[in-house]
Amino acid sequence: MAQVQTVTGPVDAADLGRTLVHEHIVISWSGEELDRHQKWSRADIVARAVDKLAELRDGGFRTFVDPCPIELGRDPELYAEVSQKSGMHVVCATGFYTQHEGWGLPFYWRARDPEEVAEHYAGEITEGIVGTGGIRAGAIKAATGVEVTDAERRVLAGAALAQKETGVAIITHTEHSLHGDVQQEIFAEHGADLGRVLIGHQDEQTSVDPIRALADRGTFVGIDRVGLEIIGAADDRRADHVAALVRDGYTSQVCLSQDHICVQTSPRPAFWVPPEFREAAARRRDEIEWQVSERPYTYLTTGFAPMLVERGVTEADLETILVDNPRRLLAGV
Ligand SMILES: [Zn+2]
Repeated sequence: MAQVQTVTGPVDAADLGRTLVHEHIVISWSGEELDRHQKWSRADIVARAVDKLAELRDGGFRTFVDPCPIELGRDPELYAEVSQKSGMHVVCATGFYTQHEGWGLPFYWRARDPEEVAEHYAGEITEGIVGTGGIRAGAIKAATGVEVTDAERRVLAGAALAQKETGVAIITHTEHSLHGDVQQEIFAEHGADLGRVLIGHQDEQTSVDPIRALADRGTFVGIDRVGLEIIGAADDRRADHVAALVRDGYTSQVCLSQDHICVQTSPRPAFWVPPEFREAAARRRDEIEWQVSERPYTYLTTGFAPMLVERGVTEADLETILVDNPRRLLAGV
């Protein structure tokens, strides 16, 4: 029986149930821990995350994949506590974020060869994450920015090598839906199994054609920021894309998720907002917070799924997308 590694131990593939493949318990940006305005305590983060995950469990979901990059506040011990208290399986990932705008990919790891990255990732998957008492990663996160940098290429090559060695899934971040094809190329070149790769964040594609082209190479494709319309991607268009993929025979390669965040700890905006835009940004703050971290976690099934059904997607298709596809991505069966 194939198993998937969760933060509380291995789970049989058949027991994963309805699964969200790209969500977050907590995200924090490098340096914010130094900010004297930081107000989130660990206990507060756990309490809020348990509420949000329990809501998902009540909504019929059983598994929550949090591909938080290593350097964006990943906290496997906290996830384990949230998992135990909420009754949801939680899968965490190894892997670094994009170098784009200096968001991630720590300086030291930019200097590493693919083999060194792979050794680190494989260690987190097979032996455990250092400092956690042996909690193991169950997937690999990989990310690229608006330009794919040389260091990102080395790190993606390392992800492919680690996947080849450990057999876990690779889940990617693309910036503005760009360069999924480059990610596939690097993975293929270094021996990854493309059938166990999810090219993520295809929500910003204006046409379904490039998503179809990615699926044609055998990977899963993610419309995994459902509800996040502030990034310039309307849910209507997301629903059109998903319905077109289902109609064209790609049902078994589509993954849905929301990239929703239970807790954003940043005491102040993590991104520079030019002074002339600050008033407008402040006016939209409620809307932004609603979409990023306030809205009920079950929006995917209560708000978005009906838009798919309207477009001809059946309940059986949805079951494939929410149960079978994540299971095949994570467990290979
Ligand atoms: Zn994410």
